[in-house]
Amino acid sequence: MKTYGIDIWGENNFMIDQGKIKVNYKSSPSLLEITQQVRKTNLRGPLILRFPHLISKQIDALYSNFRRAIFENDYTGKFHAVFPLKVNQFPEAVDAIVELGEKYSYGLEAGSKAELALAMAKTAIGAPITVNGFKDEEMVTLGFMAAQMGHNITITIEGLGELEWIIDVAQSCGLKVPNIGIRVRLQSEGSGIWAKSSGMSAKFGLTSTELIEAMLMLQENNMLEHFSMIHFHIGSQMQDIAPLKRVLREAGNIYAELKKMGADNLKAINIGGGLAVEYSQHTSTRMRNYTLEEFSNSVVFLLREIMNAKGVAHPDIFTESGRFIVASHSVLIAPVLELFSHDYQAKSLKLKENNPPLIEELRELNSLLSPRTCIEYMHDALDHMESLLTLFNLGHIDLQDRSNAEILVHQIIKKSLYLSQDNPMPEIERLQVKLQERYLINTSIFQSIPDYWGLQQQFPIMPLDRLDIPAIRAASLWDITCDSDGEIRFKAETPLYLHDIDLDEEEYFLAFFNVGAYQETLGMNHNLFTHPSECTIIINDTGYEIENFTESDNVLNILEDIGYDASKLLTNLKNKLASSDFRTEEEKSDTLQKLEMYLYQNGYLRTTR
Ligand code: PLP
Repeated sequence: MKTYGIDIWGENNFMIDQGKIKVNYKSSPSLLEITQQVRKTNLRGPLILRFPHLISKQIDALYSNFRRAIFENDYTGKFHAVFPLKVNQFPEAVDAIVELGEKYSYGLEAGSKAELALAMAKTAIGAPITVNGFKDEEMVTLGFMAAQMGHNITITIEGLGELEWIIDVAQSCGLKVPNIGIRVRLQSEGSGIWAKSSGMSAKFGLTSTELIEAMLMLQENNMLEHFSMIHFHIGSQMQDIAPLKRVLREAGNIYAELKKMGADNLKAINIGGGLAVEYSQHTSTRMRNYTLEEFSNSVVFLLREIMNAKGVAHPDIFTESGRFIVASHSVLIAPVLELFSHDYQAKSLKLKENNPPLIEELRELNSLLSPRTCIEYMHDALDHMESLLTLFNLGHIDLQDRSNAEILVHQIIKKSLYLSQDNPMPEIERLQVKLQERYLINTSIFQSIPDYWGLQQQFPIMPLDRLDIPAIRAASLWDITCDSDGEIRFKAETPLYLHDIDLDEEEYFLAFFNVGAYQETLGMNHNLFTHPSECTIIINDTGYEIENFTESDNVLNILEDIGYDASKLLTNLKNKLASSDFRTEEEKSDTLQKLEMYLYQNGYLRTTR
């Protein structure tokens, strides 16, 4: 049976039991029963299930690992963490993070004015707020307002211009001055696709020369006392631990030098994000070579070594890892709408009294298939298909013959796959690439896993049930956008096998895991498919509660959101329909009602054949 790599990416968050994927927590509900429960409301389309207990698990793991490393290394600095809002700003995620992190004084990181306003509203007084990214005078002033409110806020400057804003605002507004952080530009680079956040050509950070100048500016303006943190970010999804060590050595030494230069209130190093998530379902494409334990040990140990060598007190450590905190908490459920080979069902075969010889041969191959002969016959069938297509193109066989040939070849392929399933052969694996089955899924790749579209990033995918039945169809997935990029192709190196399902008889759902980080906010409304419906699942000892259910936008709202006047559009459509010819008044009023109903439904597909 296939386990879809759950032991690689699953972190014991999910388990396979009695053929179903279940949440490995308290009453262990299956994802299928939750999905079916939510769909009882007649909901159609994709669904995001949020599991806040998985956010809690990650926050606990982060703090407990760093606290343990601090204890074991006799480290005298403290550990603090903030959640970077850019990773997931959705209210259900942020509210859960703030609530579940309260016991640790877990804070928030903001990178824009909107995120800063959110951080100021949501962070408990005392928990840290850090502010990164490019800023203007207004954003800097917002930071002063946060300090005035009593927030423990650090504004990290990305360039000297921002420091000038801070000095100007401090001199002009009379508000409490926030802590000042400086992002340092390091020579060392990270690893992975987001590694360009560090290194000399990085977008952010001050060079050594600029650092010295910043110190002078702060001194001259009597603001050095507010300089409390240096910051770097190695890049998201750091695959390898080695570059982190190099970066830490560099940043640690910069910290110690700045202390020696008189930055007496400098007391923290913010190591940014970087903690990776395992997205791979296949051993050969694993995405990180370290654990959180190793990561925390490395950070604490290295900083201790550098500070001890330079005779500097151990700094507090801040992290801003967000991917690690929220990726696992949400699961995208996508209903399968169609299997394309089902166009080739045996019942559609319309053989003639006299069929072309090659079609007769295909019939024979189909009837004589056995585990011993299946590979040979599959080869023969594919060969015959090619010849039949040539005959069709030359006008020697008609469309009915061509249709019969296609159906017979598909039947032979399917049967051969079943017959060889107990004895998988390399040749079958090779043929799978050619013979893949296309599954149409009721979701948008652009909206729900944009990093797959933009960066080819993998996400673990598996069916919700039938996990005790062999899955033998090499699957490629097509989303419902009118865009050929909306496809996850079957790849021999990272294969996905799914079940052969008759969707007229039964439902089939796919789950996409680890979609809680970045995907929701990066999601694009391509073809006007918007954020999926979502709900929060609170699991208890005896069952679970479904909370915060929000359905995906209805068609009129979608249009309203991009600037159309929805009521004018509706009136326009109703008028056009009403002024057309109907056989009866009843038909007219039914159709008008239907029009309105459809436009108030969410924009994903509801019924298909
Ligand atoms: N902090 C900063 C400054 C970032 O730019 C980022 C993301 O790139 C993060 C934190 C979050 O990092 P991660 O995605 O590794 O959680």
